[in-house]
Amino acid sequence: MAELVIPAPEQVTIPTRDGGAFPVRRIFCVGRNYAEHAREMGHDPDRELPFYFTKPADTVVLNGADMPYPTATKDLHHEMELVVAIGTGGSDIAEADALTHVWGYCAGLDMTRRDLQNEAKKAGRPWDMGKGFDHSAPLGVLVPAQGVDPSRGRIELKVNGQVRQTSDLGKLIWSVPEIIANLSRLVALAPGDLIMTGTPEGVAAVQRGDVLEGMIEGVGEVRTRIV
Ligand code: MN
Repeated sequence: MAELVIPAPEQVTIPTRDGGAFPVRRIFCVGRNYAEHAREMGHDPDRELPFYFTKPADTVVLNGADMPYPTATKDLHHEMELVVAIGTGGSDIAEADALTHVWGYCAGLDMTRRDLQNEAKKAGRPWDMGKGFDHSAPLGVLVPAQGVDPSRGRIELKVNGQVRQTSDLGKLIWSVPEIIANLSRLVALAPGDLIMTGTPEGVAAVQRGDVLEGMIEGVGEVRTRIV
């Protein structure tokens, strides 16, 4: 192999509950996957197939670390989400087999520059700069899939101790197996891929100094402070 002409990018990893490290390959995100959130954003949740956007792997902020307030926005929003970590890849994965491809789960935040996302929507432009900016993906510790039922469980986000988002995984419009089956028809899923499954209602702006604490029943927590 030819010699690298610049240093290779560092492999991003997130810690697992048992002290391991999960290498992150890609981060896929599902848009509008809770009916009440779709409505608060001005959409009809009953008519849409799942759709996706991505964040680069190196947007990950490790659990407990600070998140710098990003540049170029005056409207940074929190989106609390269940994150699925793919352990075994595949294309055209059947819904019935989908959960066997999951290594584990964590709580995560799809941080969003809402003003840039809204401008992009209006102009019919990509969402990348609204969604895939530096430090936009604070993630909790991964727990193995065994013993986790991703079809139910309370999902909640507190900002400075006040509940801002609260719902249940049972309200996902597209379930975790349906998302894996659908996404694996669009791209070949690979070990290391993460899927952020969408946020419930209650998204709102955060400011420097705010402490965000998310919790998913049976999965765990995610914590960051905006600095
Ligand atoms: Mn989201």
